[in-house]
Amino acid sequence: MTTPATLTALPLIPPAASGTCDTDLALDPWTIDTRPGYGPGASADDTIPAHAPRQGTLPEEYKRLSEAELNERIVAAKRTLGERVVVLGHFYQRDEVVRHADFVGDSFQLASAATQRPDAEAIVFCGVHFMAETADVLSGEDQRVILPNLAAGCSMADMATIEDVEDAWAQLEAVYGTEPDADGLVPVLPVTYMNSSAAIKAFCGHHGGIVCTSSNARTVLEWAFARARRVIFFPDQHLGRNTARAMGVPLEAMPLWNPRKRLGGSDEQQLHDARVILWQGFCSVHKRFTVDQIEQARAEHPGVRIIVHPECPMEVVDAADESGSTDYITKAIAAAEPGTTFGIGTEINLVRRLAAQHPEHTIFCLDPVVCPCSTMYRIHPGYLAWVLERLVAGETVNQIRVAPDVQDGSHLALERMLAATPR
Ligand code: SF4
Repeated sequence: MTTPATLTALPLIPPAASGTCDTDLALDPWTIDTRPGYGPGASADDTIPAHAPRQGTLPEEYKRLSEAELNERIVAAKRTLGERVVVLGHFYQRDEVVRHADFVGDSFQLASAATQRPDAEAIVFCGVHFMAETADVLSGEDQRVILPNLAAGCSMADMATIEDVEDAWAQLEAVYGTEPDADGLVPVLPVTYMNSSAAIKAFCGHHGGIVCTSSNARTVLEWAFARARRVIFFPDQHLGRNTARAMGVPLEAMPLWNPRKRLGGSDEQQLHDARVILWQGFCSVHKRFTVDQIEQARAEHPGVRIIVHPECPMEVVDAADESGSTDYITKAIAAAEPGTTFGIGTEINLVRRLAAQHPEHTIFCLDPVVCPCSTMYRIHPGYLAWVLERLVAGETVNQIRVAPDVQDGSHLALERMLAATPR
């Protein structure tokens, strides 16, 4: 996790640039917010589920302010609120928002950071919805967690709804039963990636399961295999597949679960032979990376060190030199010999920030097309200024509240992860 003092302000994603993945990037954020999908970028083809929360109307004045005016008002509101507020910024967040963050990190680092500031009445989470939910689960009862733009969901997290997961579980119980085998292993345990709703985390907590991050997925799967014959892994098939395969699980023992098909699209024998059942989810940003991009990077930059995120498809991870979480990528770059050339397969805002922070290296994004996480992109400084100024006025807007029973189950699954993977 870094503090923003080390960050350099970078230009915005060039709105009218021809090298972007979506011409909607040229639109102003207020227009983007009226669109039915997640916004411009890699997930533009995905549809926001009907149950996703929608916010109230952003007052018009915030739409008319310039970037400099918004900056001034955010700084002034933060100064007035002082220790009463903590602002968290995800690695993938735009720089004009991240520069106001008290902590910058990945989703779990930020949720943990919230627990380090029990004095703060309000936690303003400049990330996406599931991250704010996790912060609400881990933070104190009197603390309020605020997501500046409630439309900042995560297309991957939304691919596993609690209704579909409960239906899948009922089908698996019908196939496997519920009794442990002669070795004391239960038939199946649920494991969910941090990038999932609190409802899915609670489901895992209530069914003996656990949460993992991209940093500790292997350790968590080992924990699960010590207790269960097999796991069902939500929602990112790529992280599940890449991690399990590195542990020696054969691909044929990893059927994909399509929630639209009976038994997820497998037959009973395939499910009995399974070790890891992969939910059919993916990250729209990381699925853009390809083997061709890596080959081109190697041709253009002999000696380049290729690191990709494990949310990338398996063949991309295979073609890279290394794969690892945002924390891994950040540390690997910081520890490298000056003059190293890196081709990175993760979100563009983080890659650009790392390039600015490490002028001693050459760092570029493997995807030549500018394609930010379109959901993260929805946290515009206008929303940050709005929620902070409402706090100054004594009003809380866009609060994320996780229901008490969901809090309990999520907490259980997160605690199991912490116990299994002590930091
Ligand atoms: S980068 Fe992918 S997984 Fe992360 S918040 Fe964006 S859509 Fe979700």
